[in-house]
Amino acid sequence: MSGRAPVIALCMVAILVGSSLYGTVSKVSPFSLPIGTVVLDAGHGGHDPGATASWQWDEPVYLQEKAITLDLVRRTSDILRTARADIDVVLTRDSDTYMALQDRADVAAKLNPGVGKSIVFVSVHANSSPSEEPSGFEVLVKQTDKRLRFLDAQVPDWAIARFANQTASELNRLLNRENLLFATAMREQMAKSFPQARDRGVKEQDVWVLNASKVPSVLVEVGFISNSDDAYLMTQQTWLDRMANTLAAGILAYINPY
Ligand SMILES: [Zn+2]
Repeated sequence: MSGRAPVIALCMVAILVGSSLYGTVSKVSPFSLPIGTVVLDAGHGGHDPGATASWQWDEPVYLQEKAITLDLVRRTSDILRTARADIDVVLTRDSDTYMALQDRADVAAKLNPGVGKSIVFVSVHANSSPSEEPSGFEVLVKQTDKRLRFLDAQVPDWAIARFANQTASELNRLLNRENLLFATAMREQMAKSFPQARDRGVKEQDVWVLNASKVPSVLVEVGFISNSDDAYLMTQQTWLDRMANTLAAGILAYINPY
């Protein structure tokens, strides 16, 4: 019994230090506040089909990336809305329509997250290669050395209040940190759900929507439409459900890491 008190005291110190650190971080970072909104972006749409491929399995199948991404985003939004009624789920598009990259990013960048809340952005795509060999999933984040501007003459008042307390360097550092935490959480869920798939990892890439959303953002390439095995899975309801559940799980794992 004599050893219990010091152990309990140490635990209390650890809890207090931990909570004060967490409190400090959430106070200074506009990107790590509780998530109020998830923006889901189905890649491509309308006259932009994204990657396409014709396959001959039991019958000829013509796959278009824009249809796969919309299907996945719709399923993912249903799962998230059921799991977390307290979170707003916003789709950049919910039909086969074309959207400019700026307009997609603006759905996240121009949305007032509300006081004490933050937003995350997830873009869903299917990969393609000139060779049929590459397969698997990957999670893209913006390049950490890509510096974003959070304040300019056009920003609304809520954004000034949100971003004016930090320097541009600090805001960029805080956003990069959240991006990497988010991407890692997503990759872990993908690897867990699809152990047979090739895990191509987390990659920094110069992607327009990831640079312009100005909130923690990942782009998930769910598989290669140009690879027969990956593409076949994209036609299967069980795979689509599992992928949607995984995307939702990755978002929730980032939102609730403990
Ligand atoms: Zn794409």
